[in-house]
Amino acid sequence: MAVGEQIWEHWLERLYNLRRDKRGSHERPHKPVLLLSIIDLLDRGSIKNNVVPFSDELMATFRRYFEAVRSANDKPTIENPFYFLSGDGFWDLFAQGDRNPLYEKGQAAGAPSQAWLRQRQVWGRFDPVLWGLLKDDVSRHQFREALIARYFPEKRDELAALVVQGKAGRDAESVLKELPPAPARDAAFRRIVLEIYDYTCAACGLRLKLSSELTLVEAAHIIPFSVGFNDKPNNGLALCPNHHWAMDRYLIAPCPDRKHPEGIWKVSPRLESRRSGERDLLALSGRPVLRPEEEKFFPARESLSWREEHLFTQYS
Ligand SMILES: [Zn+2]
Repeated sequence: MAVGEQIWEHWLERLYNLRRDKRGSHERPHKPVLLLSIIDLLDRGSIKNNVVPFSDELMATFRRYFEAVRSANDKPTIENPFYFLSGDGFWDLFAQGDRNPLYEKGQAAGAPSQAWLRQRQVWGRFDPVLWGLLKDDVSRHQFREALIARYFPEKRDELAALVVQGKAGRDAESVLKELPPAPARDAAFRRIVLEIYDYTCAACGLRLKLSSELTLVEAAHIIPFSVGFNDKPNNGLALCPNHHWAMDRYLIAPCPDRKHPEGIWKVSPRLESRRSGERDLLALSGRPVLRPEEEKFFPARESLSWREEHLFTQYS
């Protein structure tokens, strides 16, 4: 199991760090959308071997997902990710009948046209280890969850509804409830929350990271998972063990604030300044939550409100 988890972590990291074209702060959605589309075709059994053709079905699926996540000037040009994914080192392209990959890791001058890809009956092949994970129903589902959490956290419900369309006879509820097993879910949540906050405590700013595994800072759910089943990154905070402990016991809370959309810290009326251990927690009062770079990852308002409510009601 340990080896399996290491492999999973390795590939999760690769998929979290897809090389993407940037326009300002907007990252193009093409590659993650292509991967979600391929996962969809695997679910349907349309792809059975490590041979992913540039097919009408893939193009149609890509367009459906793309419509759900596109921003103003994104164009549904599937030929780009189909070709440029080779630059990520786990995807090779072949023309029908050729033994050798079409290009060395994305070395063509630009993406070929759709017509050319179809004419040459080009197909893609995954790294064999990644393919082994994609072939497996459970890890494939985990990859889908992770891709959505990383790239399209605000579109989770729309994307889940699309997944359902591909699965006859199943309603949206049952698929939404189909959460991946806890270890993989926790690993994905932890990784993304820590990266969003750059391994820094959102209360005191402490950062201690020797590697992505060896870090003092922890990923905390703002609304506890057992209450909200909410693994969205905007229900997460990176906290040092002290502040995680204090938040879990309703001694401190990130709360909504008019001036700070990222929230401010409030402290429990139970704390007293004459007791030395509590002074540090009291000093947090009114300080803004350390804000992530991207606004879409700011703590959700409903999560902050939940904490505020419980700060004053939990006296035990
Ligand atoms: Zn801290």
